Amino acid sequence: MSDPIKIAVRPLVEYVFRGGSLESGFRNMGTMVEGTKAHQKIQKQYSELDQSEVYLSVEIPFGDLLFVIDGRCDGILAAEDGTYTIDEIKSTSADIGLITEESYPVHWAQAKFYAYMYAKANGISAMSIQLTYVDLDVEEQRRFVQKLDFAELENFVNDMVGQYVPYAKMSARHRMRRNQSIVDLAFPFPGYRAGQRKLAGAVYKTIEEGVSLFAKAPTGIGKTISTTFPTLKAIGQGLLERLFYLTARTTTRTAAEEAFALMESKGLHLHAVTLTAKEKICFQEKVSCRKEDCEYADGYYDRINGAVLDILSNETRMNREVIEQYARKHRVCPFEFSLDVSYASDAIICDYNYIFDPRISLKRMFAEQKSQTVLLVDEAHNLVDRAREMYSSTLNYLSFVDLQQEFKDLNHGIHDVTQGLTAYLIKLREQAAQEPLILKEPPVDFMMMVESFALQAENELVNAGHAEQNTLLLDAYFAAQNFVRISKLYDERYVTYVEVIQQEVTIKMFCLDPSFLLGEMGKSFRSHIYFSATLSPLGYYRDMLAADEEDYSLSIPSPFSPEQLDVHVEPLSTRYHDRKGSKSRLVQLLFELTANRKGNYLFFFPSYAYMNEIHEAFMAQESDARVLLQRGNLSEEERDGFLSAFDAKNRRTLIGFAVMGGIFSEGVDLVGDRLTGVVVVGVGLPQIGLERNIIRDYFNEAGKDGFDYAYVYPGMNKVLQAGGRLIRSEADRGVIVLVDDRYLQPHYAALLPPEWRERMVVGRGLRG
Ligand code: SF4
Repeated sequence: MSDPIKIAVRPLVEYVFRGGSLESGFRNMGTMVEGTKAHQKIQKQYSELDQSEVYLSVEIPFGDLLFVIDGRCDGILAAEDGTYTIDEIKSTSADIGLITEESYPVHWAQAKFYAYMYAKANGISAMSIQLTYVDLDVEEQRRFVQKLDFAELENFVNDMVGQYVPYAKMSARHRMRRNQSIVDLAFPFPGYRAGQRKLAGAVYKTIEEGVSLFAKAPTGIGKTISTTFPTLKAIGQGLLERLFYLTARTTTRTAAEEAFALMESKGLHLHAVTLTAKEKICFQEKVSCRKEDCEYADGYYDRINGAVLDILSNETRMNREVIEQYARKHRVCPFEFSLDVSYASDAIICDYNYIFDPRISLKRMFAEQKSQTVLLVDEAHNLVDRAREMYSSTLNYLSFVDLQQEFKDLNHGIHDVTQGLTAYLIKLREQAAQEPLILKEPPVDFMMMVESFALQAENELVNAGHAEQNTLLLDAYFAAQNFVRISKLYDERYVTYVEVIQQEVTIKMFCLDPSFLLGEMGKSFRSHIYFSATLSPLGYYRDMLAADEEDYSLSIPSPFSPEQLDVHVEPLSTRYHDRKGSKSRLVQLLFELTANRKGNYLFFFPSYAYMNEIHEAFMAQESDARVLLQRGNLSEEERDGFLSAFDAKNRRTLIGFAVMGGIFSEGVDLVGDRLTGVVVVGVGLPQIGLERNIIRDYFNEAGKDGFDYAYVYPGMNKVLQAGGRLIRSEADRGVIVLVDDRYLQPHYAALLPPEWRERMVVGRGLRG
């Protein structure tokens, strides 16, 4: 017999009873926020003999398989006549009067399972089963009761397990093959590069000890393979069941896919799935997930089990194309399908938000699964600002004003609540007219109004009807829903600010320090491996990414020879008020550099405005170079076109003007002579502005250096990323020019990589 198959009651019955269509994407606010409270309220009414939250477990042999099934039932009610009732509580804000005994077979199934487990453990010949529905809005309750004898319960449970068997068998076979292939897998290169073994060893040790790792690992050491390979080995050793490879960008997702492809070519057998954003992978022209609008939503749950079984039985690497192919074959939504596949996969390659964003995190992952899962967080320096956005929420005056008009005669509830919201925001507009209003306390009255709006909007959307207005309402509903969700997270790490720009009033609950929430969202996972070439200074990132004391830090030196790189500092001032004065000197420097040294260059600027200004002045010179300029909102084709111009065989010098922190300053690999020089203008500081100043003040008050946290560290990170485009392999050579006098200040210089500092020449190298 193979290893026992462990599964909880709820996922098992949900698997067997799945059926019907996808919902339109809005979820029940009431259930979401009050479900636990409703349970507790009912449980408080239990008598002394009754028990609540009872853990139950049972072993069920089935052919050559052994199932170990467990779960926690809401209540076991003991009657004086010695009979027992399983109580299963379900809370809803839908109309409770419409719920009948037949409405939710899956709820009966769950309760029957618990009844069987309790009866078997205690030798009871018959059990009663009760479903208790609680209406959250009016606090009404409705109960349905059935009585079954032990044989009926046993037949029912065996039937359910039988329906799960094909999937369980496929999983068990796959798991055995996977584990053996991992044990046999050798490192997929002839040898380890410098630094690789150290990183791989640290990753394995970190997972073994169940702690986390913060690794500064330079470009060129092969971070993807050095993190995935030891993690797979930990799976092979039974320490883990799965890994998430989390990235900020699509390009790094490709690198992870390639690593798994390489290891597969060496014998690895593994289910790896890549998640693609809903808007990108959707088969329809417009994302509208109602069954009336989308054939892939209609009947989704009737077909999903077959689709998942099919893809997992026949595929290992499930990238976007493969997901799309099977989604079409089974007529299921490709996005939801990819999520369903991910719950059953060994490696999931996806954006950070599937784990850390409360709006879209993979919610069906149970704590026990998390404890067998490792998060590999690539380019982890990006997570700080991404998390700030995930945990912040904004609402605007104008969207409510429009709704107030639209629903005047259609829905008085929505009209009245939006009227209240707009009146509130008009008052705030007066208070914030001169300068933004910054509040430490949450706007409780406003939050209550937003919550009431969300419930009204949800009812309207559920009942549909006013189709033309629904897009407007749906957008406002999602924004309000997010605002409500974020309001539940609000604490001393937040402020609320109100900003007025012309007629528009924006109110934002702004998360200043995301470390606590990152810790909460990432809780229960076995280990987190944060890695980046620019996780510097490490102390700052440990602080912002919620490191515990026992977590490891690692800093790996560059694998390249110092001779591959020349670093020049040009001590011009690029501060905003000095730019006019330093402009002609800067243009002259750029001209001389490219005139005297033929090659392919990237010039990075802190903003589009500054870049455009210098570009215009540069073009007035008589340069022979071909010059490209980054524009905002480039399409994927335009981006690829820009990069493909960087050809090692170019006869003329090529110059790309680009912005720091943009799409060309991170995750771009221009190996060999495709890039021979990088100029970084300025120290990358974000523009002085309201949000950055709020962050600065917050960290100052917290006893840290607020200016460093808000400006210097994020800015210098962009510098390191931009400069890091240059040397990508042992064969690369090139020059980095750092234009700013602040590079000579010890505080800034200390933030540069040692290999840059070693090679630094001041103010005399541009003539080549
Ligand atoms: S295919 Fe598009 S519209 Fe249809 S359910 Fe999926 S995401 Fe929604």
